[in-house]
Amino acid sequence: MMKIIKIPSVGYESNCWLLLEEESGCFSIIDPSSSIEQILQSIRQRNLDEKNLQYILLTHGHFDHILSVDALKKATGAPVLIHEGDESFLTNAEHNAYKHLFRRDLTMQPADRLLQDGDSLPLGSSTIRVMSTPGHTQGSVCYIIENIMLTGDTLFDQDIGRTDLYGGNMEQLQKSLQMIAAIQENYTIYPGHGSVTTLQKQRAYNPYLKTL
Ligand SMILES: [Zn+2]
Ligand SMILES: [Zn+2]
Repeated sequence: MMKIIKIPSVGYESNCWLLLEEESGCFSIIDPSSSIEQILQSIRQRNLDEKNLQYILLTHGHFDHILSVDALKKATGAPVLIHEGDESFLTNAEHNAYKHLFRRDLTMQPADRLLQDGDSLPLGSSTIRVMSTPGHTQGSVCYIIENIMLTGDTLFDQDIGRTDLYGGNMEQLQKSLQMIAAIQENYTIYPGHGSVTTLQKQRAYNPYLKTL
């Protein structure tokens, strides 16, 4: 069984998630936007072994989702994975929007592995599936495992991500949302910002999914 825990985040109000496969104790951190202290505290509070951190997963490369990537990798040795479309965001502050907003640099080490649509990532006895959903950025993805769907900044509760930053494309985002809306299952959605919702609710109430 998968369990998902929100790690409190200070500053930019991005959601950082701890995804745990309970039987094996294997886990993954998605979008390490919280401080490294908060992330390590959440891991230790649950008596998890840091060596069981399988992947540091990024839904996309914007600065508010990657803040503690290097620190978490250094503390645990876990590999960093991002879709190939956002590869440059880790090392380029123009691309990850930090420079655009704060006129300063914020960069990380290059990723350890680049993801593509349809990739499978084993987590204990379960598997995370990578679904490419470009539009917010070229390398935006959703991660799907069991009844859980992590949507990053592609889909929020009753809203969607902006497309005016580097690599954004509204037409593409609408196509990606169409693809998500067509999924039969009713996944619980854990977005990059805001509250947890379900795919069924978003099909009914999200104006961007309704009009498609
Ligand atoms: Zn973003
Ligand atoms: Zn964001």
